Amino acid sequence: MKVMKFGGTSVGKPERMMEVARLITADRESKIVVLSALSGTTNKLVEISTCIAQRDKARAKTEIELMEAHYQAFVRDLLHTEPAIAKATEVLREHFEFLNIATKISYSEALTKDILAQGELLSTKLFSCYLEEQKIGHHLLSAFDFMSIDENDEPHISVIRSKLVPILADKSDSQIYLTQGYICLNARGEVDNLKRGGSDYSASLIAAAIQASVCEIWTDIDGMHNNDPRIVKTTRPVEQLSFDEAAELAYFGAKILHPASIWPAQQEHIPVKLLNTLAPQAKGTLIAKSASGQGVKAVAAKDGIVAINIKSSRMLLAYGFLRSVFSIFEKYRTSIDMITTSEVAVSMTIDQTGSLNQITAELEKLGTVSVITNQTIVSIVGHNLIQSPNLLRDLFAGIAHIPVSMVSYGGSPHNISLLVPADQKHETLQSLNRHLFGLD
Ligand code: ADP
Ligand code: ASP
Ligand code: MG
Repeated sequence: MKVMKFGGTSVGKPERMMEVARLITADRESKIVVLSALSGTTNKLVEISTCIAQRDKARAKTEIELMEAHYQAFVRDLLHTEPAIAKATEVLREHFEFLNIATKISYSEALTKDILAQGELLSTKLFSCYLEEQKIGHHLLSAFDFMSIDENDEPHISVIRSKLVPILADKSDSQIYLTQGYICLNARGEVDNLKRGGSDYSASLIAAAIQASVCEIWTDIDGMHNNDPRIVKTTRPVEQLSFDEAAELAYFGAKILHPASIWPAQQEHIPVKLLNTLAPQAKGTLIAKSASGQGVKAVAAKDGIVAINIKSSRMLLAYGFLRSVFSIFEKYRTSIDMITTSEVAVSMTIDQTGSLNQITAELEKLGTVSVITNQTIVSIVGHNLIQSPNLLRDLFAGIAHIPVSMVSYGGSPHNISLLVPADQKHETLQSLNRHLFGLD
């Protein structure tokens, strides 16, 4: 059994959804099809819940009306038989009624999570109507019946497996199971999600839970490119990546994959393929335990980084100092991305800034603290970079004009990370494209 995940653009237009139906019926292997919300929907739902939080009911209503009109037009183009149209119309009525009721209840985080879940619920139900109209047998599974996170917002493959396997066994008459990406239940049994872009994570977790033959991530580009195609004009797909390389790229900003989406597949040794719905024949990228290709394979950038420097003469020759520093980050459940130390100072970067004020207040008890915002981590990822001849020379020659403020080298054989001001990101990625890949 395999997993096929289709992202927002892959289901964002009726004709794209029809193409998804063709792709999932192209072979006879049984499969779990994981869908995202139609492109743009989750952003709109975020906007709607922000309006509700700000008590701007009128704007929330207008956004909901616009969205409903969009979905009605979508259904008109997707479906052509009376029973399917009636069923889809009822789906829209139910979910838009929920959104309209949401504008009348007082705001809570739980309400936002419920609102955000509507996108994936809608896309899977409408796709199910289309499959039914096309007489394509399938079972629509509710992700709430098996996808869950614990009190630390972490999913567990074994928990998902223990719920999902019996569901599949119970409906073993089908070759095609359809379910929502992104959404889950939390430890309190409430509707929650796996964070933005989380459908990739759902797919990988499901693939690991059922020990799928492959986890296919179908998107709008032919695989992982060597650089961010939203920023750099000339990029090319990377044919193969190891799990470690792909995990570094996902974590350090390659938007094609959710930051945490590699570990479940890696844990169960399930190959991941990144494929293009717009060009299904394209090779894409194969992610597996080992991968061909030497040296640098790709670069990625992660925005919204804050650098924190703490200087203390107490650090000089003192053991236990770093532990005191780290325990403050641990207390506020904030993970550190990059770290460098000197004899009397330590610099760290974080991207979760919710507790920044409390963290700096506590760090100030240990030394002099300075904070620099608006930073970007640029990561250079590849195979055995540490032993790549001339890499450091070429790398720094290419970006000699960029004010790099931190460098992380040696922590992982697959990654070299640089901290640059956010306004230097484009120039850095462009220069690296030229100097490391010979692309303009
Ligand atoms: P989906 O909706 O299918 O999940 P996403 O928009 O989340 O798709 O991810 C695909 C997009 O990721 C591409 O359209 C591309 O603009 C962007 N992207 C960023 N970095 C990379 C990269 N290194 N390789 C490929 N795509 C990338
Ligand atoms: N729909 C969700 C989002 O836009 C999840 C996903 O697309 O992966 O973030
Ligand atoms: Mg995505």
